[in-house]
Amino acid sequence: MTWAPSRQAALAQLSVFIPEMGEAYARTRSFDLGPGARASVSGLSPWLRSRLLAPEEVLEAAIGMHGFSGAQAFIQQVFWRAYFKGWLEHQPDVWERYQAGLAGALNQVAKDARLAARYMAACEGQTGIPCFDAWAGELVGTGYLHNHARMWFASLWIFTLKLPWELGADFFFRHLLDGDAAANTCSWRWVGGLHTQGKTYLARADNMPKFTRGRFADTPELSGEAPALTEPRLAAKRAPEMSEPRWSGQRYALLVTEEDGLAETLPLPHPPEVILVLSAPSERSPLGMGELARGFVTGAVHDCAARSGAKFGVPVIPLTDDTWAAQIADAASGHKLEAVVTARFPFGPTRSRVRKGWSTDGLMNVERIEIADPFDAAVWPHTKAGYFKLKEQIADICARGGFGLRAAAGPGPQV
Ligand SMILES: Cc1cc2nc3c(=O)[nH]c(=O)nc-3n(C[C@H](O)[C@H](O)[C@H](O)COP(=O)(O)OP(=O)(O)OC[C@H]3O[C@@H](n4cnc5c(N)ncnc54)[C@H](O)[C@@H]3O)c2cc1C
Repeated sequence: MTWAPSRQAALAQLSVFIPEMGEAYARTRSFDLGPGARASVSGLSPWLRSRLLAPEEVLEAAIGMHGFSGAQAFIQQVFWRAYFKGWLEHQPDVWERYQAGLAGALNQVAKDARLAARYMAACEGQTGIPCFDAWAGELVGTGYLHNHARMWFASLWIFTLKLPWELGADFFFRHLLDGDAAANTCSWRWVGGLHTQGKTYLARADNMPKFTRGRFADTPELSGEAPALTEPRLAAKRAPEMSEPRWSGQRYALLVTEEDGLAETLPLPHPPEVILVLSAPSERSPLGMGELARGFVTGAVHDCAARSGAKFGVPVIPLTDDTWAAQIADAASGHKLEAVVTARFPFGPTRSRVRKGWSTDGLMNVERIEIADPFDAAVWPHTKAGYFKLKEQIADICARGGFGLRAAAGPGPQV
C-alpha cells in the first residue's frame, strides 16, 4: 500500500476498500500479514488524520454498502479515533503531561549511557526480538504499522524492554503518517494501563504466529506480565469549548493547516479574500519528524490549499516556517483582513504553535476564528468517560445525521 498525500488518492483507496468494510473486515482485521499484504485493513488512517477524508464520508460509504449492522466492526474502529480525540479535549493535562514526561525521559537518555543504548537499539530495530525489530524497520521505512503490530510493539516497549512509554509514543509520533496527538498518546496510555486504569495490554508470543500467519513464529521469551503504569491523579475533566463563532461580514483569510485537509468545506458565510497555507508541519517532537511523515503532511496541506484556491478563485499565499506570523500580519494589512478563519485546533503541536504565535507575534489585532468540525461536535459530548459510553450513542449519532455535515466536501465515491 502506498499513501499519496491527496484527496484523489484518498478517495481511490476508499473506493477500493468499501466492499471489504463489512463481514470481511470483522473477520480479518486483526491479522497483520506484513507490509506487502494489507488487504485486511483500510489503510485510510493517514488521510483521515489529515482530514483529506472526512470520517462521516467513510462511515456513510460503509453503511451504504453493508448496512449499519453489517459494517459494525468497521464503524466501531472509526469511532475509536473520534473517541480518543474527544477524550483528550476533555483532559488536556494528559497532553501536557506527555510532553513533560517525554522531555524528562530524553533528559534521562542524555545522562544515562545504558538507557541510551537500549533506547537506540529499540528505535533502530536491534533488540534481537525479531518481530519488534521488523516493526521498528517497517515504521521508519513506510510510516505505517498495522493496529495489532502497534499494540504488540507498545507492549514490548513498555513491559519487555522496560523503556519509558513516552519515548515509544514519540518514536511512533515522529514516523507515523497518521501520527495523531490524541490517538497515539491515548493508545500508548491504554497499552500501559493509564487510560483504563489498571487494565494493560500484554503481548503474547503464542498469538503472534496466528495473527501474523507464521511470520513471527520464533519470538523469544517475552515478559509474562504487564503491571499497570501509575501516575498522579489527573485534573478534573472539563468540557471542550465548541461555541459557534458569531461572524458574518468580515473580510477574512482562510488558513489551511495540517489539521484540516478539507478546510474549503468549513461552513463559511461568504468566500475568503485569500488562502493562507501553513504548509510546514509543526514539529511533533523535540527530535523532529521522520521524512515520510513530514512529506505526507506537507503534501496534504498543499493539496487542500490548491483545492481551496481553485474553489474560491482567490490567491494562495504559502507561509514559511519561521516567518508565518509576520506574513499573516502582512497579508492582513495588504488584503484589509479583519479575521483569519481556520478549523478548530485539537490538542497537539499545531494548536500550541499557532495559538502561541498569535499571542506573541503582532497578530493581536487580527481576530482568529476557529470553526469546530460538525462531526466532532456531534461525537465529543459522549467522550468524557470510557469508549462504551460513546458506543451506546453510535447508532443514534449515525441516524441523527452526523453525516453529510460537510457535504460540500467534493465528489465522494459511488456506492
Ligand atoms: C500504540 C498505538 C498507537 C497508535 N497511534 C495512532 C496514531 O498516531 N494515529 C492514528 O490514527 N491511529 C493510531 N493508532 C490506532 C490504529 O492503530 C490506527 O488508526 C490503524 O492501525 C490505522 O490503520 P487503518 O487505517 O488500516 O485502520 P482500519 O482498521 O482500516 O480502521 C479504519 C479507521 O479507524 C480508525 N481506527 C482503527 N483502529 C483504531 C484504534 N485502535 N484506535 C483509534 N482509531 C482507530 C482509524 O482512523 C482507521 O483509519 C494507534 C494504535 C496503537 C495501539
